[in-house]
Amino acid sequence: MDNSVKTFTHISEFLDYLGNDFTGLTSEMRANLDQEPTFAFNCSKHYADLIKNSAEPVKLLREVLPSTDELKDAPGFVDDPVGDLPAGKSECILQKYENRALIVSTSACGVRCRFCFRRNYPFQDTQNIASEVSNWLDVHTSIWEVILSGGDPLTLGPGPFRDLVEAIAFHPSVTTLRIHTRLPIMRPDLVMQHFELLRELPARFNCVLVVHVNHPDELDEESAAVFAQLKFSGWTLLNQSVLLKGVNDDAETLERLSRRLFEQGVLPYYLHQLDHAKGVAHFEVSDERARELIAQIRTKLPGYLVPKLVREIAGEKSKTPI
Ligand code: SF4
Repeated sequence: MDNSVKTFTHISEFLDYLGNDFTGLTSEMRANLDQEPTFAFNCSKHYADLIKNSAEPVKLLREVLPSTDELKDAPGFVDDPVGDLPAGKSECILQKYENRALIVSTSACGVRCRFCFRRNYPFQDTQNIASEVSNWLDVHTSIWEVILSGGDPLTLGPGPFRDLVEAIAFHPSVTTLRIHTRLPIMRPDLVMQHFELLRELPARFNCVLVVHVNHPDELDEESAAVFAQLKFSGWTLLNQSVLLKGVNDDAETLERLSRRLFEQGVLPYYLHQLDHAKGVAHFEVSDERARELIAQIRTKLPGYLVPKLVREIAGEKSKTPI
């Protein structure tokens, strides 16, 4: 295989890379494989290696491998499950919560998670995003926290990423910058391309990085290196997981995840119930089971390693505890 390949966009090449001796693809997954999914397949080579090295490869594979289950309609599973569209303030700015704004900075990600809550989101062209954000912040001076989301904001090239951050930093009313990303576990190399800037930012904002890790085997020495450097630079590191059937819906996995995150300097923050995007119903875990899991891990972990179990309800002014 060509060593410069960083990302697989063809399922056949991805499966070839996993190899003939790979045992993580169950007969059920093989039978349900959707070779031409509407929500395109995309998986980094780095994540493929994590899958190969995992003791539970099926669980990681379920996060990225398209399934014909995604074609099934389920009641209540819709295109805009968290009310992004009614919260739109411009092409790329959403405001759901008081004095905080979220920037949909790009449609690109290091992976296409099969449970993605924005899988049906109508992403706009973000070429002029820095000036759009700057103009909006000029007249919305009560905004004190700006959240960079997407897509994955760290997939922006160094130039556009710096322009966006500089445009935000120009507004003294913004005191906190929060970045939501899966890149430390999907494309750590792409995080490192921003390192000079990421190191500088804590001198200008309170900086919070919320990583999205769902399984302990997604963390390795490369994610540890990224987190160590960010922490050393003054970033607050939090994790947000989604509770996913067949991936992390057992107490042992959740306990290991919290402990491994903490070993890498990251605090477990939220365990999210699944957002009801169209095509993801097969990942649903009941609220009753979710509460049971939290009760189980609470007996195994110190309180600071037990994430808050929440759901996002469209139109609500905060996340809703379950
Ligand atoms: S990284 Fe986030 S936005 Fe990108 S596909 Fe995964 S869930 Fe969706």
